[in-house]
Amino acid sequence: MKKIQMVDLKGQYSSIKKVVDSSIQEVIDNASFINGPKVKEFQESLEAYLGVKHVIPCANGTDALQIAMMGLGLKPGDEVITADFTFAATVEVIALLGLTPVLVDVDSDKFNIDVEAIKRAITPKTKAIVPVHLFGQCANMESIMELANDHDLFVIEDNAQAIGASYYYNDGRKSKAGTIGHVASTSFFPSKNLGCYGDGGAIFTNDDKLAHRIRGIVNHGMYKRYHHDVVGVNSRLDSIQAAVLDAKLPKLDQYNKARQSAARKYNAAFTNHPNIIIPKAGNGCKTICDNCDCHVFHQYTIKIQGADRDALVTHLQEKGIPCGVYYPIPLHKQKAYMDDRYNDADFKVTNTLINQVISLPMHTELEDDQINFITSTVIGFLNKG
Ligand SMILES: *Cc1c(COP(=O)(O)O)cnc(C)c1O
Repeated sequence: MKKIQMVDLKGQYSSIKKVVDSSIQEVIDNASFINGPKVKEFQESLEAYLGVKHVIPCANGTDALQIAMMGLGLKPGDEVITADFTFAATVEVIALLGLTPVLVDVDSDKFNIDVEAIKRAITPKTKAIVPVHLFGQCANMESIMELANDHDLFVIEDNAQAIGASYYYNDGRKSKAGTIGHVASTSFFPSKNLGCYGDGGAIFTNDDKLAHRIRGIVNHGMYKRYHHDVVGVNSRLDSIQAAVLDAKLPKLDQYNKARQSAARKYNAAFTNHPNIIIPKAGNGCKTICDNCDCHVFHQYTIKIQGADRDALVTHLQEKGIPCGVYYPIPLHKQKAYMDDRYNDADFKVTNTLINQVISLPMHTELEDDQINFITSTVIGFLNKG
């Protein structure tokens, strides 16, 4: 058995070395390192793949979120509602822009923002909602968009973990994650479902005016050379990263299928075990999601109940199985984001999840013997009590 890794980027590279290398070489040969043709090519390929009018590449997923909020013209004092159970980048940019983050609880099945909790958090100052499509599947976008329409709010999808997934509406229609809200952000961090070999990110929108504003913001607020109409930033996807992404994008569906296949094997081994709750997938697709793209498993995250999660983590590490706890501390308890407005009792689900969740190795190169070893080690530990 090959050594098990949380993410196997080296193994993945070895199978696409030729296309990636020649794509990178092209950039070097042309010395078109900044805003070269590869960036434009990738942008257009991604627009076509997602079925979205505008993709604006930028330097990373955190910038993408910040720039989306700047593009919407959000102002200090505006309240922005987001999930308590997510990576800090989401709340960080809200705070950095002088906006007021309003953290709310998530649902215990899918780990995504709880729509009822959003409803309770809306005030006259609320201007936007940032649903995070956590671990590879969309938040409840149909209800969130309805709520946003009713209250005249912007919806910014944090799609760093669900690129390539689809959201299924209750009537059976579907849309790619990141194309439903007013604007969306994504990250091409190496370990994401579509990752480059450094930092990268992008903003998506179907709104022409917003896209125009954002294209200026990423380039120092410049719409005409040396005319700075708004305060902008410098946030570029460099051409070498675009070359990697352009070579990998045609593989994205295949990669997501490989993740789903690994998830199905995990599920088959874990289903019905009294100490394990397997991840719940599905929105309006209403199938058992065997042949569906509603979940692209950025992480394969189970909940452990009636057993010691932390002891399991230690045991797996001793057996050479990497794993992760995403996320170990709720954002409302982080020093940087604590606030007297929060009542700990309002975060019942997040407070429970942080003690239950464990994410197992998930990547495109997992082999059956590795999965069998992982599942039998987890089950062996739990059955020993
Ligand atoms: C990775 C991630 C980000 C940030 O992306 P970077 O490219 O690392 O800046 C933001 N939000 C979520 C949910 C993420 O997982």
